[in-house]
Amino acid sequence: MAKLPHTAYNEGMAIQAIQRFLCILVIGLSVAITASAEERLVLWDPPFAVKFVEGEEELAQRAIEALQGGLAELESRLQAGDEPIRVALCDTLFDFRRFAGPLAVSEVGGIARPAEGLIAVKAPHLLRRPGEFDAILRHELVHVLLERNTDTTRLPKWLNEGLAMTLAREHRWNSMWIVAQMYARGQIIPYRDLEFALAAPGSETGFGSAYAQSLSMTRHLLGLVGEDVVWQVVEDLNEMSFGDALRKRAGFGPVEFFESWKRSLWKVAFVLSLVSGFGVFQFMAILAVLGYVRKQRQGAAIMRRWDAEVDDRDGDDEPEAYEEGDEDDEYAWFDGEEEEWF
Ligand SMILES: [Zn+2]
Repeated sequence: MAKLPHTAYNEGMAIQAIQRFLCILVIGLSVAITASAEERLVLWDPPFAVKFVEGEEELAQRAIEALQGGLAELESRLQAGDEPIRVALCDTLFDFRRFAGPLAVSEVGGIARPAEGLIAVKAPHLLRRPGEFDAILRHELVHVLLERNTDTTRLPKWLNEGLAMTLAREHRWNSMWIVAQMYARGQIIPYRDLEFALAAPGSETGFGSAYAQSLSMTRHLLGLVGEDVVWQVVEDLNEMSFGDALRKRAGFGPVEFFESWKRSLWKVAFVLSLVSGFGVFQFMAILAVLGYVRKQRQGAAIMRRWDAEVDDRDGDDEPEAYEEGDEDDEYAWFDGEEEEWF
């Protein structure tokens, strides 16, 4: 009995809590209804339907121009198809969060849901760099167009993001520096891990090392085989894997390509270390180590050759494992670069 008042008090508290919860719920719902009831207009210029709030007509027009301009540039490679591409211009962070969810962080200016043909972008006043508004729209447009023109489950994410960044003409001046630092620190993301280091295309994250590496690799691929071949590979993905398409069109597979890209970083890291004046000694130390490794390997090769010759003289079978070719392949990049730079 002594506990009764206490229990009644608890019940009272519980009722109050429920009332408070209901009150908050009602207020929350009314805010949501107000937000969704906010005057929204649609600027329709096929295939784009740009949704915006009243007062942002000019911005919606600018978005249409950026999107139509992007589409016109890409139309010979990627068709928009019949389905509309819906674009939400988000005037508030609350609005952007409705589309982007946890991706609505300050570094992310836009997201896409390529399969739904949906793009959501922050209005310039919400962007860290308002001048990037057009590029963000073009970037997300590329994701949607790739989805509509190829089997993106076969398109590596690094190439999907790399193409989006390249075709959007994003000026990522720091990307080379990021990659050079990754290279110098031994933090290059292995090819097999790159797919997991990137989110689904369109689910943008801030521009970090995986993006920088993707951009660098895409530029390298474009430089190696040219734009036409890259587009042929993208188209072939409707019928075959990326590896098969790359081998068919370019004559090398993804692993060879990745090694070739890594070899190219030697120059980038070297030049940047000189330009920055920082890390030159570090770079020279790496050179010394690589030089040492190379000498060791040459020494080992000579030893094996001697062994083989001795075996021959002993009348044994042909030396089976003198892999001079393999040695050369593995370190050919070093030889090449050394000649070029010294
Ligand atoms: Zn992207």
